[in-house]
Parts: sequence; C-alpha cells; structure tokens
Amino acid sequence: MKTNQVSNAADHVNAERLQALFLELAKLNAPSGKESLVADYLKKVLPELGFTLEFDEAHKNFNGEVGNLIAWREGTDPQVPPLFFSTHMDTVLPTEGLKPVIKDGVIYSDGTTILGADDRAALAAYLEAIRAIIESGVPHGPIELILTVNEQPGLVGATYLDYSKTKSKTGYIFDSSGDVGQIILKGPYSSRIWMEVQGNAAHIALNAEEGNSAILLAAEGLSNMRLGGIDEETLANIGIIKGGELTSIIPGSVTIAGEVRSFSKEKLDAQLKHMEEVMEQAAGKNGGKVEVRVEKKYLGFDIAKDDILVKTANEAADTIKVKPYLTETLGGADTNVLNEHGLTCLTLGLGFQNIHSFRECISVENLINTGRLTAALIEQWYENHKNA
Ligand SMILES: [Zn+2]
Repeated sequence: MKTNQVSNAADHVNAERLQALFLELAKLNAPSGKESLVADYLKKVLPELGFTLEFDEAHKNFNGEVGNLIAWREGTDPQVPPLFFSTHMDTVLPTEGLKPVIKDGVIYSDGTTILGADDRAALAAYLEAIRAIIESGVPHGPIELILTVNEQPGLVGATYLDYSKTKSKTGYIFDSSGDVGQIILKGPYSSRIWMEVQGNAAHIALNAEEGNSAILLAAEGLSNMRLGGIDEETLANIGIIKGGELTSIIPGSVTIAGEVRSFSKEKLDAQLKHMEEVMEQAAGKNGGKVEVRVEKKYLGFDIAKDDILVKTANEAADTIKVKPYLTETLGGADTNVLNEHGLTCLTLGLGFQNIHSFRECISVENLINTGRLTAALIEQWYENHKNA
C-alpha cells in the first residue's frame, strides 16, 4: 500500500491470521448433518465480533445435530440496508485428522481426507473480513450471516431454513470454483424424475410365457430418450436403475431415476415430459406401464447485470485489484434456494479446486482475496447506499 493511498477495509485483512483461521476451521470435523463443532466454534467467536445469534430448527426435519445459524451485527449506519453473506457449515466428507500441506502457495490435505475448502474457506474469509471492518473503523451497514447445515446432500438446510429469522434481503454466497472475481448471475432450475416401469414377473423355466421384462421395457424407453446436453442451457441424466431379484426371474418392475437442469423453466418441463412420454410409449406398446413422479430440487435464479449486487461486486473487485468476470452455472447451490425464498443473492468464486475429492485444494492467493473481497463488498455496499 502506498503511503498516500487512503486505507480501506480490505487492506486490514491479515493474510497470516486468515490462513491460520482457515486451517483451524477446516480441521473441525463437521460432515453434513453433524455440524456441532462448527456451530460451537461460532457460538464462541461471533458474539466477540458483535453478532447476536439465532439457530433455527431445520435439523429436526432430517435428524441433524444443529440448525441453521442466522447471525446479526448492527452497522454504524442503520439507514444502509443490511447485507448478508451465506455459506454452509458442513463438508461433503469428514475432515477428521486433516493434515494440511502447503506447497507452492497452494493448500492441500495430505491426500487421506478432503481439505474442506468447500466451504470453510468462505467461512474463514467472512470472519477475517469482519475483523478487518472492525479494525479499519470504516462505516458500514448491518451485516447478517446465514450459515446453513446439510447443504452437500442437496441444499437441505436452506430448504428447511426458517426465513422469518432473516432480516436482510440481499447478499452474497462465496461457493464456486472460479478464481476470486467470478460473479455468477444465473443458476438452473432442477427437478428429479422417478419412473417406475411395470412389466410382469415370471420364472424363466416355470412360467416364462407370463413374463414381461420391465428391464427390457425400460431399456427400450431409455434408448429413445434424449439425454446429456439437450441444448446450450439444458442437461438431462439418468443416474439410477434399480430392479430385478434373481438371475432366473424375469423382472416385473424396475425404477429409473434421473435429473434435468435448465436455465429455462419451459425447457426443463419439456425435457421432463419427453422422458415421461418415451418411457410410456415403450412400456405401453409392449403391455407394460409406467408410474412417473417428478420432484422439484430447486428453482433457477437470474440476477440482472445492472443489479446493485453486481455493480457492488464489480467495484469491490476493482478495489482489491482482481478482475471481475460474469458467468452462469448449471450447478446448484444454496443461492438457488435463498433466491426462491425472496433473498436476492448471487454466487461468487473463491477458487477452490477438485472439491469433494482428496485432491481438493485452494491457493493462498484465492483464500486471502476472498477475505479482501468480502471486506471490500461490505465497504462498497455502504458507499453505494449512504445518503440514499
Ligand atoms: Zn459448497
């Protein structure tokens, strides 16, 4: 920092302190549904940073240890609308016994566990950014943290979140693999489809003439089904086939399950209908039948390029001298669920790589930049709303 430059909150982010905090948080073993260690840590630390805490009861819906945490910190200027930062407290697999290895500026595990950068890196960055905001003395609006549980199995904590406990309407979620500067404006609609194909069970040697193989019916349906990349904004997949009892039995039923994602609700519905129709045709013309169940996973979101969240993110990235870039994703995130419940938010990249694997890593540069960008966002949000 040049001596004549005005000090900003991002410059108060302490790189060593943030790295140490990330490693401390990553070692807290808290896989999905078992987030107590992280929740206990936050119960201790967040009040010291001026937050009041509330937990909801979401975990009672899925037998988890603890609910979602909503934490609130007053701003220096109550006129500025509150800004939230969200992430999930769980990791996809345990991180017990994590031994971090730092090589050439990149943090890894020793290859026997995940690192948990998804998404402890975001949590560490938020805490350090708030310390930086406090230490810098910059004016700011109220800050809310929405920290979900049980995200990895399918955004479950966010789905059961008690939204009456949240006070802010706009925010950011750092939870994507792009380098810091990535701004994700658009996420997909997603639904699951379950197709129960019914034929007729029979023994190959005793009453084969009564048999109608559900597996063969399903196979014909699947061979007529458009799957994979349907167009530039729609994906379809069959991920589960379950059925059959014995090698000597002609199978009477088989379950086929898949998923469709699309930026367009119309295209999502059209693809689901296509999957249902080709399966019904295949079964129907061969004397079988199909029962279809469609289950919404989440709705899409689409934040306008001129939204104040985007403007603020662009400006904050400029402040910390990273290049902002706008993207979209066909991946699902809490962002989908929060937007569905009226909280306007977008996903930001923090540069973790190979997540959900033992090769997971994050560069120290991206980790520190996540802290710096969070601090800059809080400061810029205030600048864009003061005197408004
Ligand atoms: Zn994540």
